Amino acid sequence: MDELSVVLKARGLVNKVAPTAAPVPVEAYVAEIGAVLRKDSSLGPEEAGYSFPKGDRHYICVNSNDRPERQRFTICHEIAHIVLGLPSEHEQLPWWSYARRPFNEILCDVFAAELLLPYGPFKRFVDKADLGLAAVEELAGRFDASMSATGSRFAAVAGCPCAFVLSEKGAVRYASRSTTLRQANAWITPRMALPAGSVCARLHAGGTCDGPEETAANLWFSSWDRGGTLLEDARHFPQWEQTVALLWSEDEELPTPATGRSREREAEEHGLAELDGILPWPGKKRRR
Ligand SMILES: [Zn+2]
Repeated sequence: MDELSVVLKARGLVNKVAPTAAPVPVEAYVAEIGAVLRKDSSLGPEEAGYSFPKGDRHYICVNSNDRPERQRFTICHEIAHIVLGLPSEHEQLPWWSYARRPFNEILCDVFAAELLLPYGPFKRFVDKADLGLAAVEELAGRFDASMSATGSRFAAVAGCPCAFVLSEKGAVRYASRSTTLRQANAWITPRMALPAGSVCARLHAGGTCDGPEETAANLWFSSWDRGGTLLEDARHFPQWEQTVALLWSEDEELPTPATGRSREREAEEHGLAELDGILPWPGKKRRR
């Protein structure tokens, strides 16, 4: 199963329920798939929830000690397991740990984000928003979703070059990028230390910031030789040892890549053939 088919299945369910208001009613998704929801206060702090079939129904149990927005995400994640037919690989990983998270679990998170933050209405809000974490916070409140889920989706649907970075204990856990950044190979390396000179690194070290600041794009993007600056808006959450940032460019267009050297480096680092003026056949990457 790949991400695109997961997204399409999630949007199919969203279309059936056709939520008209935010926050979307997760109970309506549960009802649509004929599942039964149970709140469970006996689950430990690292156990968000689970689901199981019994008779001709599926039961979803959610940890009722979790914060409400977390419970909503868990319910949608369990709906994903049921709809996609993917077995749980929850083990003992804390829910926020993206390191070594099994691929099927990531797919269920993708599905859950589609249900909680439906593409159409969510994108309309993002397109109207003033970019920055204040907009992410406002949307997280409006859709009753977590800051990390909302920020990831915010960057993914943004029309301008935009990324959302979640870091923990001073290292990048996860980054989500807009289509423009993905197409430009603006890669933020998972597990890298927060780059020296970034607002995130300063906040993590106990410093402060009063709003978005300009930051060099090559601080964040690996092997980036297009230059340019980004705006970086960051927040530190000491209780979780997490720092989040929204990075974006107010120019719709990214600077064009430097010639020559850039191609050599791309070839070295990503295994791409240097351009030689001969167009490859479609679908045959390595043809020379
Ligand atoms: Zn799961």
